[in-house]
Amino acid sequence: MRIIGSGAAEAIPNPLCSCGICENARKARGRDIRSRTCFRVDDATQIDFGPDQFYQATVLGNDLRTVRQVLVTHSHEDHLAFTEFNLKQMASVTNPDPIDVYLSRPAHAWLLNAAAPFDCAVTDETYVRLHPVDYGVAFQAGNLTVLPLKGNHFAHGTGENSINYHITFADGSTLYYAVDTGYFLEDTLERLKMLRVDTLVVEGTFGDAPGYETPHTDGHMGAQGVLAVTRRLYEQGTLHDASHVYVTHVNHKHSLTYPRMVDWFAARPAPVPITVGYDGMEIPGK
Ligand SMILES: [Zn+2]
Ligand SMILES: [Zn+2]
Ligand SMILES: [Zn+2]
Repeated sequence: MRIIGSGAAEAIPNPLCSCGICENARKARGRDIRSRTCFRVDDATQIDFGPDQFYQATVLGNDLRTVRQVLVTHSHEDHLAFTEFNLKQMASVTNPDPIDVYLSRPAHAWLLNAAAPFDCAVTDETYVRLHPVDYGVAFQAGNLTVLPLKGNHFAHGTGENSINYHITFADGSTLYYAVDTGYFLEDTLERLKMLRVDTLVVEGTFGDAPGYETPHTDGHMGAQGVLAVTRRLYEQGTLHDASHVYVTHVNHKHSLTYPRMVDWFAARPAPVPITVGYDGMEIPGK
């Protein structure tokens, strides 16, 4: 597994922003540069298809040519820049099979409408096959068993909650990917009681920003939210002693540069290790 893009909607540095975090990233570079959110589950599977596909393929080495399926969390443009699928349409030599794209039913309805005015690969089955999925109903994607659960985050579609993905690999190990989720919904926590999570990848979007000192925030979480969700999932038996948490989807509206966010988590007790993610970070597992 690999975190490809660890940033939020505006990336870091936001090219039009001169705040402290963005200015720091321009100087420090390295792990403080965060492209728009993207995750690679395995050779065949990617989560989200945002606007930084070219940069991530070319600079970060994310080889899109092996991607057979994309799991979309929600319709916000940092997660689904749907015209980027035109890269498939414009390829001279490419796998003849279409890419399978899974997304919630409300996101699917929104996408058909949003893409209608364009000549778009995303609505042409020669290039992309869309699969609307229902919250709480598991499906098979290649050799992965995927359960989409509701995030506490609304997107463009009518009645569209973001999807958090619980993924079971062929060997039984599990990943829970929860970006743009806010503090987890009680229904989702309840469902997770019956599940095990070996690797949790979760948003720490707002770091230590004002308003995010409390863990129970809707829409997005900060660092306190990550800590609270980790503790709750451990207490209810979803996370276990060998689990590991990775923080991603970080924005610039707080004071936590990469090293400061590492220090922030190091200073607070957690039941399992919490690692601050960065662009290109390899995660042990599949
Ligand atoms: Zn986002
Ligand atoms: Zn900024
Ligand atoms: Zn969002």
